Amino acid sequence: MKNIVFISGSESSAQQQWLAILKQTLVSENILLPEQIDESQAKAIDIAIVANPDPKALAKYPNLIWIHSLWAGVERLVADIKDKPIKLVRLEDPQLAKTMAESVLAWTLYLQRQMPEYSQQQSNKAWHQLPTIASSELRVSVLGAGVLGSASLNMLTKLDYQVSCWSRTPKQFAGVNSYQGSTGLTTMLGNTDILVNLLPLTNNTHHLLGNELLSKLPKGAKLINFSRGAVIDTSALLNLLASSHIAHAVLDVFEHEPLSPNDSIWNNPNITVLPHISAPTNMHTAAKVVANNISSYRATNIIPNSVDINQGY
Ligand code: NAP
Repeated sequence: MKNIVFISGSESSAQQQWLAILKQTLVSENILLPEQIDESQAKAIDIAIVANPDPKALAKYPNLIWIHSLWAGVERLVADIKDKPIKLVRLEDPQLAKTMAESVLAWTLYLQRQMPEYSQQQSNKAWHQLPTIASSELRVSVLGAGVLGSASLNMLTKLDYQVSCWSRTPKQFAGVNSYQGSTGLTTMLGNTDILVNLLPLTNNTHHLLGNELLSKLPKGAKLINFSRGAVIDTSALLNLLASSHIAHAVLDVFEHEPLSPNDSIWNNPNITVLPHISAPTNMHTAAKVVANNISSYRATNIIPNSVDINQGY
């Protein structure tokens, strides 16, 4: 039985919960916390399971071959290991993808059925029926068509939306228009009523959605950001909301989390704030994915599909 280190930056109760579930699920390995490992044992460790680890904690294991992240978003880890010969495997869990797809559908329906507008009307005791838009008339575009994006696209097509996606490489999903490159993005944005962002945060996507691109959306378009706050230039978004070019934004992620109590975003009637909850990791299904990946590596010596450090995702 080999030792595996579990390094977590999460609060202690979550750390204990993860440890218990990982031990229960991956019985063929001895999963230890950093404080249970001495210097000579550390040298023999080839795999780390991590959740938001402190980069200094990782440096204590000089012979790590690969790291399994318990999160799907790995921008910080990519930066931490970019000059090291360590492979990074991120969480690709069908349950997580399903949860995200449900969130995308829920908040698309929230915007389609004008819930923010009716909520404001209720505060003003206003009885006013707004036109109902059929899903077949609504153009929903998803930025990113990876694990979470493709599950969301599949969910959206089931409800007959006019669905498009933008990704680095072309996609062939039934009932989905696939766009690439900057021309493809501009074309897609010009034909979008609800834009859903599921792009990872990388050097290429940081503040990708600024004034120039967001202005390509038709007036009155709505936005959902479920990936990372910094993919959007927040001040550009706030200006476009103030001018009503963008009618409403559902934001689950922010450049600084948690959102400061003093942030004006809290009181912006054109923003729905969510506390980074669109797709929380399910510890049990995630632990199974991690256990399968590690067992398969022990059997074959093949590292599971890993992050392209140069691309950043
Ligand atoms: P993924 O499988 O790696 O998919 C990323 C998608 O983005 C791919 O389709 C990729 O294109 C596309 N992409 C990346 N860079 C691009 C670029 N420069 N131009 C065009 N397309 C680009 O990632 P995922 O598992 O779907 O996760 C997406 C993100 O969701 C994560 O990075 C994380 O930040 C976020 N997330 C949020 C929550 C939450 O609760 N809010 C939970 C989990 C994850 P190709 O397909 O061509 O490679």
